[in-house]
Amino acid sequence: MNAPLIDPFQRPISYLRVSVTDRCDFRCTYCMAEHMTFLPKKELLSLEELDRLCSAFVGLGVEKLRITGGEPLVRKGIMTFFEAMARHLQSGALKELTLTTNGSQLARFAPDLAALGVRRVNVSLDTLDDRKFAEITRWGRLPQVRKGLDAARDAGLRVKINTVALKGFNEDELFDLVDWCAHEDHDLTFIEVMPMGEMGEEMRLDQYWPLKDLRARLSERYTLTDLAERTGGPARYVRLEETGQKIGFITPLTHNFCESCNRVRLTCTGELYMCLGQEDMADLRAPLRASADDAVLESAIRAAIARKPKGHDFDYSRQGVSGQMSRHMSHTGG
Ligand code: SAM
Ligand code: SF4
Repeated sequence: MNAPLIDPFQRPISYLRVSVTDRCDFRCTYCMAEHMTFLPKKELLSLEELDRLCSAFVGLGVEKLRITGGEPLVRKGIMTFFEAMARHLQSGALKELTLTTNGSQLARFAPDLAALGVRRVNVSLDTLDDRKFAEITRWGRLPQVRKGLDAARDAGLRVKINTVALKGFNEDELFDLVDWCAHEDHDLTFIEVMPMGEMGEEMRLDQYWPLKDLRARLSERYTLTDLAERTGGPARYVRLEETGQKIGFITPLTHNFCESCNRVRLTCTGELYMCLGQEDMADLRAPLRASADDAVLESAIRAAIARKPKGHDFDYSRQGVSGQMSRHMSHTGG
């Protein structure tokens, strides 16, 4: 292997998140506008290009690959790409191949994913109520996702539920969600809502439910023990002593994780974002298309990593949202 990727702050880059499409079969209100304009197909990296690019990263020491979107499982032919990445699992270069999905297509794909070596999936689910699910996702239907979750279990995939904490929306379901995850044996992580895309600022601040408040609510019923476990990302974990459950909290708006950040994000058009909270990105599609020689690509990747910033600028200050990002999560991948 070539020299691994180390950024200017001595952080090894071992984790790549890849958005394989900007499209989705849902329209979650905090993520997308109802009428989205998607990228023309020619802008997207082909599955072969995604393979070449991800393989270059694996060759440079990336050990964990998370496939996301948009909704990764709506990309046509996506299993071809998973098959291609599975060869890096088989060689041992890649330690984990995983995905974040809304679960709508899992009933169809869970067995194939498991057969290719995927062990865990993150499934986003904000409510257990059919009506509220349709409201928040606009186009999604909960029974379809429940079928997907059953299929994931049957295929032997470990499921982590990702729930965006939304004030006035799922506050009243906190304990139901925790109980349901215990019953189903799913891990559970709460995500603080982020200032992304073009949602009105007012609505976002309105929906902002700080995880420290959520945590305080949890501790009214459970004894919470902080776990030392760190993933190099914005997640922190606690154990609920009464049930033994592990609950995660992702607070992307705090700066408490930048020091150990081990990840970069690739968009479906080949832009590499070195930090979720910064606008700076490197175009890897041009070097990818300019030459069949991976040396060109590799030096573009190294040049990008050399620009990885120390931290990000998100801040929900008293006045409003600053450090707000104009791009959508569906573009950079959540
Ligand atoms: N479609 C897949 C899904 O929903 O899991 C993968 C892509 S989605 C953009 C990834 C994650 O980002 C989801 O868990 C979603 O809830 C989260 N997300 C989207 N918009 C968000 C926002 N404004 N703030 C916080 N999380 C957000
Ligand atoms: Fe689609 Fe995921 Fe965004 Fe919801 S959060 S609109 S499922 S990409």
